[in-house]
Amino acid sequence: MSGMHDWPIKKKLRHALVVTTGAALLVTLIAFTINDLWKTREAIVSKLQTVAELVGSNSQAALSFDDIEGAEILLGSLAAIPDIQHAVITNANGDVFAKYGDSSSYQHQYQTMAEPGEYTQGLDLYVGQPIMMDGQLIGYIHMLADLTPLLYKLLQNLILALGIALLAILVAIGLSARVQKLIARPILELSETMNWIATEKNYSHQIQKHGHDEIGELYDRFNEMLRQISRQEKTLIKHQEKLEHTVTERTQELSNSNQELKGAIRQANKAKEEALEAAKAKSSFLANMSHEIRTPMNGVLGMLDLLKDSELDETQRDFVETAYSSADSLLLIINDILDFSKMEAGKMMIEKVELNVMDVADEVCALLAGKAREKQLELVCFTDVSLPKSLISDPVRIRQVLTNLVGNAVKFTETGQVVTRVELADCKNDMAMVRFSIQDTGIGIPADKVPKLFQAFTQADGSTTRKFGGTGLGLAISRQLVELMGGKISIDSEEGKGSTFYFELPMKICPNAIENEIRDPVVLTGKRAMIVDDNHINREILRRYLDAWQMTSEEAVNTDEALNKMLNAANNGNDYDIAFLDLNMPGDDGLSLARKMKATPRLENIRRIMLSSSGMMSLKEQSDNGLDGCLSKPYKREKLKQLTADVLGRHQAKKQQNAVVHAVDEQARQSSDIILLVEDNVVNQKVALAMLSKIGYRVEVANNGQEGVEAWEKFSPKVILMDCQMPIMSGYEATTAIRRKESNSGLHVPIIAMTANAMEGDREQCLAAGMDDYISKPVKRKLLQSKLSDWINKTQTPMPLERSGGSGVFSAKREDTTAVISREVQDILLLDQIVFNSMRQITGAAFDEIKQNYIAETPRFLEDIAAATRNADLKVLERLLQSLKSSCASLGAKRMAELTRHLEQSVRENRLEQAPDILALMQAAFRDTKIAMTHMQH
Ligand code: ADP
Repeated sequence: MSGMHDWPIKKKLRHALVVTTGAALLVTLIAFTINDLWKTREAIVSKLQTVAELVGSNSQAALSFDDIEGAEILLGSLAAIPDIQHAVITNANGDVFAKYGDSSSYQHQYQTMAEPGEYTQGLDLYVGQPIMMDGQLIGYIHMLADLTPLLYKLLQNLILALGIALLAILVAIGLSARVQKLIARPILELSETMNWIATEKNYSHQIQKHGHDEIGELYDRFNEMLRQISRQEKTLIKHQEKLEHTVTERTQELSNSNQELKGAIRQANKAKEEALEAAKAKSSFLANMSHEIRTPMNGVLGMLDLLKDSELDETQRDFVETAYSSADSLLLIINDILDFSKMEAGKMMIEKVELNVMDVADEVCALLAGKAREKQLELVCFTDVSLPKSLISDPVRIRQVLTNLVGNAVKFTETGQVVTRVELADCKNDMAMVRFSIQDTGIGIPADKVPKLFQAFTQADGSTTRKFGGTGLGLAISRQLVELMGGKISIDSEEGKGSTFYFELPMKICPNAIENEIRDPVVLTGKRAMIVDDNHINREILRRYLDAWQMTSEEAVNTDEALNKMLNAANNGNDYDIAFLDLNMPGDDGLSLARKMKATPRLENIRRIMLSSSGMMSLKEQSDNGLDGCLSKPYKREKLKQLTADVLGRHQAKKQQNAVVHAVDEQARQSSDIILLVEDNVVNQKVALAMLSKIGYRVEVANNGQEGVEAWEKFSPKVILMDCQMPIMSGYEATTAIRRKESNSGLHVPIIAMTANAMEGDREQCLAAGMDDYISKPVKRKLLQSKLSDWINKTQTPMPLERSGGSGVFSAKREDTTAVISREVQDILLLDQIVFNSMRQITGAAFDEIKQNYIAETPRFLEDIAAATRNADLKVLERLLQSLKSSCASLGAKRMAELTRHLEQSVRENRLEQAPDILALMQAAFRDTKIAMTHMQH
């Protein structure tokens, strides 16, 4: 049926006509036939009933007189009616009286027709009636008619009617062709026109309608629609034309702009080239200026520094001090301006090297301790114990930011304290977020000045009568440096109360961090300490350190409270082991407390460490006042730990501590080590010479690179201080020449560049030439001293230090196993004083002999080990190493013991080729151990 939807209209129309005509005819036919059937039957029934009545009334007499014959004659008259097949007359009891037709078949019918009435069965029609006489039932008449003739007649009629219906359908089909034309043609015409319009796109066409019927209306609507489309098309064409026009105009404009843009780009490129040229010029100008300013500044500062130490009367000293501090400030300003210009020029590069933030913070605080002391300020440095020892960041820049912030804090604080904290804010995977905070109790900053604080050239006190000088560049530089290092800087400040500057820096945790803390917590674990300080921050910091070392602590804010607490504890048999005393406290100071403790029998056994903001005390002062140790604030956490361990580990710690603290200077003073100074500038020569001899070194001077190389060959200096720019042969060339000559000898003299070039890239150039370290001019004596002693300590290490390409790393890197060992052992104590002293205590008078024996025997051991290595005699090697290791360990020669262990391991792993290098490290370590042992006093 669904297929009908797709029939053409013609077919649908024809189909509709035929089906409706046929259906109408069929229904009519069936109705007529049924009616006819019904009526014919009724007529037969009525005829039979009439006949039955007639025969019944005529048979009354025959029934009454039992005249069967008469009755049968009467029935025989029924033969005139062909429809009647059978008839029977019964008496009142139903017994057959007379009959007509075939009795055998009748018998059955008759018995089933017990009741009078009429009904049809198959093609038989039965009619029965009672026969009454004078109101009395005297019998019945039954008749049976055959309806077959009636059926035939009916069939005849049906066939006739079907014939007529067929005819009617044919007529309908004939008619449908005409109707079709009337209805379908206009629709088809419309469809064809629509197709034509769709392909031709001619919307101005109109269709001629044929009539005013619905199809005519459809035509009208369609024509209307076409008119509308045509109108819209015209509008569209107009718009399109307008659009095309606009596009053409815009394209023209665009092409004009394009031309202009190309011109602009050309100009911009030209400008960029010019800017790059200008930047290059600026950068080289900066480099030159830096060099030019630093060279005379070196002369000024160096000479003033030396002049300060010469004999001067008071006025002269005052002049010199003023000149020195002015020159120092000038240098700071120059540095700030150079840094700022570098950042402006985008030239500031951030390095990523291994550093220990604790050391950096300690160094900065130590640097500014003098200034804080002059102003009688407490300068405290707290470093979080959980900070990883080795992180990756830029130590130079962190030091610069910290110096600026701590310097500002000291500068803008008149009374109170400056607390620097370095804490681990967060630690995820291999990244640590280190939080630095610098808190002061100074003048604070008004809230309205805070937002502009980190902008260049901005100062909170902008008045012309500013009390504090400064360029206003420090914070701007700090902010930019912190941001370049991936961090953020912020401030909390309240006018009149003080400020806290914060900055957080993400740093990668160095995977191979070397644990360089003293590893002897046993001495500290569980010890009871008393902290005596009026300053709660100092107490808190100390308590946190002691907690980390598993010590327990109590606090007291003054000497009375401390004495009370300590006496109470002693009475309860719960003595303190050690007391940390602040020197400056209101009322009785720390010294008087120490003296009192020493004089009180119950307290004299408590060890006493003085923490003083007023500089170091002499050993005599310490012992006179009953102190076991003294640290000057800001103290380093590791130093405090070491001192505490020493003091607790042995009772006579004072002298030994002193020996360790001053070992480096002593080493310099007593050594016959030669430092080679290669410098062409006479003023600089004088400055360096004076500084070096003041520190205690012997110095040889070379006036240029070439002389430098010759002097190196002649004097075998411990360290070379090398200027870079010199006539005849530059410092770079001289270094390269020395390194070339060294290459076959296995030696490596540390060469420290000493140059006024402070621009980015200068250090890389020094490294590339083969130098190991770098000091920028003007040279400060303290820095020079610490660099030299560092390198003299390291100089025993024959391994050249690896330079990481371009990153400016001056520290040793793991190049191969020997380099790793060399690096590792540098962080191991040469001599563990606790072991050394316990040995002394255990052996008593024999100790000196044991020590001398060790000092005398070890070189022989080393020679034998070298010989056994050459002969690859593993058995002998193993025995020698075992024996040496145990003698080193029992005397506390930790670095030697560790190196011996490394050599043992190499032998065991069949890596004998490493042995000569490790042996060289051992020779060097032994030399230093010997010095340390000689300096270690009772
Ligand atoms: P300057 O060289 O002038 O010190 P900075 O950029 O370091 O330059 O500091 C800018 C200004 O911020 C200072 O002049 C001072 O007014 C204010 N300032 C910085 N640190 C502090 C501080 N700790 N306490 C009070 N004021 C401060």
